[in-house]
Amino acid sequence: MVERFLTQTSFASQEDFKHNFHIRVPENFNYGYDIVDAWAEEEPTRRALCWTNDHGEHIDFTFAQIKERTDRTASYFQSLGIGRGDKVMLILKRRYEFWFSIIALHKLGAVAIPATHLLTKKDIVYRANAADIKAVICAGEPEILRHVTDALPDSPTLQTLVSVGPEMAPGFDDFQQGIEHAVPFVRPAFVNTNDDTSLMYFTSGTSGEPKMVIHDFLYPLGHITTASFWHNLHPDSLHLTIADTGWGKAVWGKLYGQWIAGATVFVYDHEKFAPADILRMIHDYRITSLCAPPTIFRFLIREDLTRYDLSSLQYCTIAGEALNPAVYDTFLRLTGIRLMEGYGQTETTLTICTFPWTTPKPGSMGLANPQYDIDLLRPDGTPAEDGEQGQIVIRTDKRRPIGLFQEYYRDPERTREAWHDGVYYTGDIAWRDEDGYFWYVGRADDVIKSSGYRIGPFEVESALMTHPAVVECAITGVPDEIRGQVVKATIVLSREYRDRAGDELIHEIQDHVKRVTAPYKYPRIVEFVDALPKTISGKIRRVEIREKDGGRG
Ligand code: ATP
Ligand code: MG
Repeated sequence: MVERFLTQTSFASQEDFKHNFHIRVPENFNYGYDIVDAWAEEEPTRRALCWTNDHGEHIDFTFAQIKERTDRTASYFQSLGIGRGDKVMLILKRRYEFWFSIIALHKLGAVAIPATHLLTKKDIVYRANAADIKAVICAGEPEILRHVTDALPDSPTLQTLVSVGPEMAPGFDDFQQGIEHAVPFVRPAFVNTNDDTSLMYFTSGTSGEPKMVIHDFLYPLGHITTASFWHNLHPDSLHLTIADTGWGKAVWGKLYGQWIAGATVFVYDHEKFAPADILRMIHDYRITSLCAPPTIFRFLIREDLTRYDLSSLQYCTIAGEALNPAVYDTFLRLTGIRLMEGYGQTETTLTICTFPWTTPKPGSMGLANPQYDIDLLRPDGTPAEDGEQGQIVIRTDKRRPIGLFQEYYRDPERTREAWHDGVYYTGDIAWRDEDGYFWYVGRADDVIKSSGYRIGPFEVESALMTHPAVVECAITGVPDEIRGQVVKATIVLSREYRDRAGDELIHEIQDHVKRVTAPYKYPRIVEFVDALPKTISGKIRRVEIREKDGGRG
């Protein structure tokens, strides 16, 4: 399918990619018809989804089956009055009904708003009102049903509630019954233009309240690079991205680009997550490609990998947070696999990436994706030189690239703040070396200013991670009268070092950092904790540590 959208589909080098990567944009592109149904017609028996759960159930869906189910779902949704432009929230965890529903909504030209199951009444009310949500399709679990039911009286636009089961509650329509009795689906006469909104995702909320990001119907095409040239997928691949469907990362790794590439998406629908489960899945299902955030790899390398047959695994990718070189090195030693890092946001597709034709530099995010016009800007707006820190920006003066969001929904002020004068500001600081590789420094908000130095948390965290006592850590600034800010390390100790938490270990760790990196960066304050504050999706929230220490949020 990739060849339908690209003028050239394989590349030998970054130069080749830069000059010859070109997306052909069809008119009124619709992922449901132009990808899912197209596969169903061309290769109906090709496996699209390999789904399993922690009760040992396993179902494979071919593209023909996905077409059939998504048509039924679309027809059922029509019978509920859902149509073009309607906003529908999906709280479906990793149920396969997520895939049926999001594609069905695309086929109707409606707007899908995937959300995490950890939302409570107040979060649902907020989202329902902020986005005029018309319907909620959710997993039938008592907690979720209760929160949605409780949200209803305060959510005036909410008209329809659907549960996919197994539990039902008063006021909820039964999804399974609905699709069973659905009349044959008739494609609406007109579904969408390329500029219509198809998807709304909330950002992870790492730096503050999650923001509502909206994407157009072309957004899936932006993910051709994500799947074909970062995950390195081909039609025989079985790919697992670790992400809940409530986060943007889910469509990065569990849907759009993967199916354009013709790969099979692997889904493990689980309640509680243990790193060893992933290893068991790779072993049992012969997964070929894995994408996960660094936090997962930090825990994976502490498992006994020799207990699993991981020989099927060919390719591993990471994004979402910076990858510490120590984790890269250990994973390579244990598995022979080089972790290929990528960088992007809910607002974008993959923007910086270690492509298959490049050699990874451990600790670097990789090279600019030529699909975007990427630059690094100094605070005064002029371009940073090689080796100099700047904010990662995307220039949009010539065009809005495929994959870049439309706006923060109904928040023109915030949109203008991040995106003005033809430049979208990511809020992330990095520097570029002479080979064009980008090196992450930190979020602009997380960079520490101490005695005239600007200290990026990532570099100090990476230095700390090379000490065997440190499993995870966060570097933050603490207000200080003399220095402005001083560097603080909040550390989770490994099991073997927990008894040694105390001044002696603090000095040992401080000396270690002074040796590994420039001494002025060492943490003057060290705190040991059992766990770091994280977002629901598992990202470290440095902002919370800062606030606790009396600093700016
Ligand atoms: P919020 O915007 O609500 O604070 P968030 O920025 O974490 O949350 P996402 O859109 O899920 O929400 O994450 C994008 C951010 O994740 C990037 O802006 C960057 O800070 C971080 N990130 C992603 N990939 C990498 C990477 N490879 N290295 C370092 N940071 C990364
Ligand atoms: Mg963000």
